[in-house]
Amino acid sequence: MTDPICDTHAFARAILCDFPDLGNLDGGDIQELAEKHGLLVKERRHSWCSDECCGCREYHDDGDLKHGFDCFHVHPLLGGKGCGP
Ligand SMILES: [Zn+2]
Ligand SMILES: [Zn+2]
Repeated sequence: MTDPICDTHAFARAILCDFPDLGNLDGGDIQELAEKHGLLVKERRHSWCSDECCGCREYHDDGDLKHGFDCFHVHPLLGGKGCGP
């Protein structure tokens, strides 16, 4: 992330570019855009995050734990909580 304000604006523009026709956007699209603009940060993990963090324990199983899995975290500058081991 270079400038969080610029990245946030770019994200907002990308989301609103089809306004008022936003019915096509789903959560997956929004996540993809947030990732692209650096507002969601991907972290490769081999242990569960704390439950308050991202809830990855619910989305992955023990097999993922062995091979590693990707967690997405809201950028700290946007209020994302840090994830401890
Ligand atoms: Zn996490
Ligand atoms: Zn996690």
